[in-house]
Amino acid sequence: MTTYEEAIELAKRRGFFWPSFSIYGGQSGFYDYGPLGVLLKENIVKAWRDEYLRLGAIFIDTPNLSPEMVFRASGHLEKFSDLAARCSKCGSKYKLESLLKKAGIADIPTDVKQANNLLENISIRCEKCGAEIKEVYDFNLMFALEKNEKEASRLYLRPETAQGIFINFRLLSNYFRGKLPMAVGQLGKGFRNEISPRNALIRLREFYQGEVEVFYDPEKPGFADIPVFEETTFLPMDHNEKRMTVREASNSGLIRNPVLAHFVFRTQKILSSIGLGDGVIRFRQHEKNELAHYSSDCWDAEAKLENEWVEIVGISDRASYDLKRHAEFSGENMVITDGDRKFIPSVVEPSFGIDRTVLSVIMVSIYTRENGSKVLKLNTSIAPYIASILPLQKKDGVDVLAKDIYSSILETESRIQYDESGSIGRRYARQDEVGTPYCITVDYESLEDRSVTVRERDSTKQVRISTDSLKQNSGHLATYLDSLFA
Ligand code: AMP
Repeated sequence: MTTYEEAIELAKRRGFFWPSFSIYGGQSGFYDYGPLGVLLKENIVKAWRDEYLRLGAIFIDTPNLSPEMVFRASGHLEKFSDLAARCSKCGSKYKLESLLKKAGIADIPTDVKQANNLLENISIRCEKCGAEIKEVYDFNLMFALEKNEKEASRLYLRPETAQGIFINFRLLSNYFRGKLPMAVGQLGKGFRNEISPRNALIRLREFYQGEVEVFYDPEKPGFADIPVFEETTFLPMDHNEKRMTVREASNSGLIRNPVLAHFVFRTQKILSSIGLGDGVIRFRQHEKNELAHYSSDCWDAEAKLENEWVEIVGISDRASYDLKRHAEFSGENMVITDGDRKFIPSVVEPSFGIDRTVLSVIMVSIYTRENGSKVLKLNTSIAPYIASILPLQKKDGVDVLAKDIYSSILETESRIQYDESGSIGRRYARQDEVGTPYCITVDYESLEDRSVTVRERDSTKQVRISTDSLKQNSGHLATYLDSLFA
């Protein structure tokens, strides 16, 4: 099992991601994507977006900063907080939940009064100075800007991308000609002043979310039956783990809302397509006291990383909470008319944490060969590069032919690389470690018979193909190369 430490070390060394601002001593909770991380992240985003485009979703892009009214209406100003604990001796701050979980306490208090009562009766010590911690307070996770004299209200960095969609509901619905269901997505950054950022991309203070708000008529939800797909593990609120398909979970009522179930299925399909399939993922239902203020039911897709289950996608039943609140606070008409019926649509929200997904994909993909070298087993669809073109020698025209093949493939496929530095063994190892599925080697024989060797990363099998067929298939390079080793 890959540890966070191993994955973070590989990610930094090979250019996937690293801590931000390190030349100035760093700042916890912020990470930069490096050259390979940017590509991997974009390919994951593409898998997410494509699945929703196929479903007819539309996408928007709204500002990171929002005026106070938005979050007053959404309830975030009042309720978007974590219980924090402070050591009165050294001032260290902790997320109360993490402290209690480490102490083996599973029943986490939900308000300051309950938490203070609990701390009166047990001894929790500061991890830095050892003093007993007795002080608990509500810590709002939103970042606020200083109020500008000329402006009526303070600006906040959004803690989720969703609100930009809700406040545009009327315009979006007009664009969509009033039809329901209507799925609207947004990829963007969310900002949360996390008390204890941890494990690199797992808990950041600035992170990417891919959120889709699915607006539907609760009386005519309009989603087709869930197709049969691979079985998965469900951990419902009653803690009785179950194995079944999402279709069965919906039909048996384990997931109460069929629309929510539909998007659990979509989530499972996206995750499976990027290498996070059964065995790595489970779906866990939120406990009542864990639900966000806007949510009436929520299932998280969790990935097994190191020895813990980590939420990477939250699929939440927001009902009509957000639209009603914005209608109330802004006066906007959020009503849909269907014949004589007037109603405010219900909403299901699958919310992908892109960064957590990136790290999960890296962690479940790392393995070590018998010779000790590391390999990143990424699916061809999300690997930063599909293939690397490697001339065996940098002379005698081998490099010229390799560059010619490289530039001709580039005309139709940009996800390829050219690498001529180091021995061929080292180049293979380098490509294996960054997850490139195929190496295309050009050698002396290539000069004579215009053929090249394609090496597959995991089996290390090699197949000889003609350069003509490589060039002819470069428009669908990934599927062509995959088919050679199927
Ligand atoms: P939530 O709105 O809390 O359900 O968050 C939706 C998704 O965003 C989660 O499933 C996470 O993958 C991701 N997410 C939330 N908070 C963070 C964070 N501090 N750092 C990175 N990802 C986060």
